[in-house]
Amino acid sequence: MSTTRTTTPQLRNSLNFSGGPGALPESVLQQVQQSILEVPEVGLSILGISHRSDWFASVVAELENNIRLLLQLPNNYHVLFLQGGATQQFSMIPMNLLPGKSAPAEYLHTGYWSGKSIAEAQRVGNIHTLWDGTATGFGSLPKDEELDFAADAAYFHYVSNETVEGLQFHHVLGRDDVPRVCDMSSDFLSRPCSAERYSLIYAHAQKNIGPAGVTVVLVRDEALKDAPNNLPGFLDYRSHINAHSIFNTPPVFAIYVVLLITRWLLKDIGGLSNMEAINRSKAALMYHALDESNGFYRGRAAHADRSMMNVSFSLPTSEIEKRFLAEAHSAGFSGLAGHRSVGGIRASIYNGLTVDAVHELVDFMNAFQKRS
Ligand SMILES: *Cc1c(COP(=O)(O)O)cnc(C)c1O
Repeated sequence: MSTTRTTTPQLRNSLNFSGGPGALPESVLQQVQQSILEVPEVGLSILGISHRSDWFASVVAELENNIRLLLQLPNNYHVLFLQGGATQQFSMIPMNLLPGKSAPAEYLHTGYWSGKSIAEAQRVGNIHTLWDGTATGFGSLPKDEELDFAADAAYFHYVSNETVEGLQFHHVLGRDDVPRVCDMSSDFLSRPCSAERYSLIYAHAQKNIGPAGVTVVLVRDEALKDAPNNLPGFLDYRSHINAHSIFNTPPVFAIYVVLLITRWLLKDIGGLSNMEAINRSKAALMYHALDESNGFYRGRAAHADRSMMNVSFSLPTSEIEKRFLAEAHSAGFSGLAGHRSVGGIRASIYNGLTVDAVHELVDFMNAFQKRS
């Protein structure tokens, strides 16, 4: 076997299975690399282009339009690019949607991130946890018949993909007559999502669609009609709507990378149904490897609730897990350690991670099992 590379070197970055920030497509990274030196149509580095320039206004407009195209988003939705991550949305949502409502907002506690969202919402107002998976260790999601949604809830909030536990809802939850709010941070633009059935969707960029620094919020106009008038400007969605996401200096770089990702989704991938098919095939490879391992690789999530984005599993002992992570690292894989709150192994297979990379990981896993 030759040790010298004769063709274009494949970046080790292609084997980044991190839970977030996640892998981005190499073709996009190459455009990013160019833009750091100079955005061709502007003649300036992306790091030094004014957010007040016409060019940046066109970036925001194209990105907004691309998201509308990808999701077939109706015109009564605003598309916002905010800062503060998903964590700021945990507070901003109840601050804007809860005041003045007589009934509590309903939340599902399905894992680590929904737990964080509930803790923040409780600081703002009256929250009812409709279902709580704490006692069963977040190994599965609620069945429809376990959920008795209130008709008068201020709104209903859930997390579509629990990134840490590797649990994903595969249908839309809640009632159509109660405002539906969803944290899609770890599966946004990984599949079609019936966006028109939600009052508010939020997703930071750094799992599937870009670098940290920007959070996409899609909000139906009507959802904000009772928002209070005494919120700090930065925490009031209407400020950002009125300012077209340039209320203050926005993260120009992060927003530009998300634009490149949406171009890639539209032109290279061909839309979200195609993206879903690719993500589904990657997940099938991973789960097949777990299921065929005779119990050596133990999937964390109940079969029906398995995530197409985060494959969480454990090995027979923590000693073997340590060896697995060390040998995987030597073989060029990164980001495979489970979240610090649950341990084990987690392979995150976001949009930017290729089918080839998953094949490589599965080959590694099969070989590791044989020699263990
Ligand atoms: C990673 C993650 C978060 C945390 O987002 P920040 O941008 O770090 O605040 C929230 N929700 C979900 C579903 C996540 O995966």
